[in-house]
Amino acid sequence: MTSPLSSQAFSSNILRLEHSATLAVASKVRSRREKGLRVIDLGLGEPMFRTPASVNAAAVQAISDGHTHYTAVEGLSSLRAAIAKDTERVSGRGVKPEQIVVTTGSKQALFNACFVLFGEGDDVLIPTPAWPTYSQMVTLARAEPVAVRGDSSNDWKVSADILASAATNRTRGLVLNSPCNPTGAVYSPAELEEIVRLAAERGWWVIFDEIYRDLIYDAEPGSIMGLNVSNSKTIVIGGVAKNFAMTGWRIGWAIGPEDVVGAMTAVQSNTTSNACTISQYAALEALTSQDAAAERRVMLSVLRARRQMALELLDSVDAEFSHPGGAFYLFFRVGNNTIGSSEAFASRLLDEHGVVVVPGSAFGAEGWIRASYAGLEEDLAVGLNAIASCLR
Ligand code: PLP
Repeated sequence: MTSPLSSQAFSSNILRLEHSATLAVASKVRSRREKGLRVIDLGLGEPMFRTPASVNAAAVQAISDGHTHYTAVEGLSSLRAAIAKDTERVSGRGVKPEQIVVTTGSKQALFNACFVLFGEGDDVLIPTPAWPTYSQMVTLARAEPVAVRGDSSNDWKVSADILASAATNRTRGLVLNSPCNPTGAVYSPAELEEIVRLAAERGWWVIFDEIYRDLIYDAEPGSIMGLNVSNSKTIVIGGVAKNFAMTGWRIGWAIGPEDVVGAMTAVQSNTTSNACTISQYAALEALTSQDAAAERRVMLSVLRARRQMALELLDSVDAEFSHPGGAFYLFFRVGNNTIGSSEAFASRLLDEHGVVVVPGSAFGAEGWIRASYAGLEEDLAVGLNAIASCLR
């Protein structure tokens, strides 16, 4: 359950901000740990792999070299050039460093994009199930998040038709995520082209979250920037957190029209300034070194094998699930859509087996569960077997 943070002591800025929907599970986990009981955590949204060794070494070197001061607010020019080159590698399209701002995690890029582009009176379409932070960010910008239910028979993806029928004359944009957290679904270029064409016709902003871009199993990584159709009002969000197991380094970025990126940089300059300088050197190494790329490929192959194991298990119990073409999540059905059904399943899994998963209700999909296969190796088989036994 979510709970509003409203209090007479707080300003109207956060009137509609909600606590995390997973608080109930989190407090149960804490009390299990306090009692010394084992917790098998398949609830995490991060790959529990080591950051590539050469990235760690680059950060230490940056400190030794005295790179411990401010950089330009928008980030090191060498890092922005590396992001531009990496984007060109997957999209075939060139971008100028002036179109890029480096941020403290992709979360800051997403927030600043919402803050700069949306405001009072604007509706923002959010294909659902969705990472709950999107609607909170839209709310903080005083705009209205509009959940648009995806098609559960097409891995919960939305089509241009679904978006068009949810739109009103207040619609100003949408936030799209592929590969998707929580479903693992990957939009095909054809599906994206339809959506981008519609957005261009309607003059909508598209904030496209590609944070899981390189964690893709059935195709080559692509980018919305590489499509045959384009919408000049597109902001691409990326980062190193998930692709290089660098969640704690907090480096993300936004790529978009120069004026939007300039406005986002102005917001950043008055809030946090540049992203951590040492982490920027680490991210530069991640994007440019062969060693880091090799370690990323190893992580991907481990995740691919784990995904296979998980899919076989879900198949063996006839579970209904979204096809996880990317990211590292399983999204499966546990019951009907009655309120509380996914929380009840998650609670039972935790109480009876010590396994943590996230109820689909947190993402707007009651009756479904998200489990991550990117946690600790030793937890996965135990966790999956517990899920299978509860599903049976
Ligand atoms: N976008 C999605 C869809 C995510 O799942 C997450 C993290 O869980 C983020 C963005 C934030 O990533 P970062 O660590 O770069 O802020």
